[in-house]
Amino acid sequence: MSVLRITFLGTAGAAPTIRRGLAATAIRAWSDRLLIDCGEGTQRQMLRYGTGFKVDRILFTHFHADHYLGIIGFLRTLAMSERTEPLVLQGPSPDVERSLMKAIHLGWREYQFPISIENVAPDQVIERGDYLIRVVAADHRKSAVGYSIEEPPRPGRFHPEAATALGVRPGPQFGVLQRGEKVEVSPGRWIMPSQVMDPPRPGRKVVFSGDTRPCREVVEASRGADVLVHEATFSDIEKDRALETMHSTAREAGEVAAEAGVGKLVLTHISSRYDAQTEILAEEARSVFQGEVIVAEDGMRMEVGYREDSSEE
Ligand SMILES: [Zn+2]
Ligand SMILES: [Zn+2]
Repeated sequence: MSVLRITFLGTAGAAPTIRRGLAATAIRAWSDRLLIDCGEGTQRQMLRYGTGFKVDRILFTHFHADHYLGIIGFLRTLAMSERTEPLVLQGPSPDVERSLMKAIHLGWREYQFPISIENVAPDQVIERGDYLIRVVAADHRKSAVGYSIEEPPRPGRFHPEAATALGVRPGPQFGVLQRGEKVEVSPGRWIMPSQVMDPPRPGRKVVFSGDTRPCREVVEASRGADVLVHEATFSDIEKDRALETMHSTAREAGEVAAEAGVGKLVLTHISSRYDAQTEILAEEARSVFQGEVIVAEDGMRMEVGYREDSSEE
């Protein structure tokens, strides 16, 4: 099974605490090393939690200061290294260029590796070969997006004994069927892949909401996701503040997870008020969502396996 690993580097909302750094999540997806957001202090969190500085692409959800100021110091550190590999920075317009150009050139004039800035828009799909990144609309005070990391459906299980019983000879013909093509076992007699293979199985999917009010687009994008990482800045007691600042409560995050039918809900972007009392948030989400609920902590690592059988492949 190819690697799909999430490491939470910073799980605080708005301001850091002793326990939590500002927003940043490292993702190892196949051979790609992604970072979602890069709050102040992210480079130190990378060292502390062992994800390293080898990042190919930074996916910014939006350009509130708590999500991107870490890029200034991180780029400066990369500029002092031997790095030659390109770095892609992506985020929603119109802020992506304005905010990042300033950040890139604050403190350093020229880099020895190429940096490119890409605008992204909701529903855009970025093909990465083995998987894809889908941009998800979010509902926040600034133009903001979330991201869905998706593996394409995998072929269903092949049943060699069924194929043999139908007259397929073991060998190259098995491979033809497994690739989804029919084979001729005797003149005019064809065996279809569907006769010897189970239906395709869904690939893995992980969705990151970014900062947002609960919204339809995140629900739709999260349907059937293995993991939904949703912000839960507040608890229900502060619902008014959540509305005012365009954030979500833990209960609302739970409602999104329940409606989308996700496997697991991870709450992040935690207000300092709940820093060490996250059980309140978890319980609230659990009151509306039956699946597993976890409150993210800095340094928490999560391997995403196949839901039906984690031991295969
Ligand atoms: Zn934020
Ligand atoms: Zn924000």
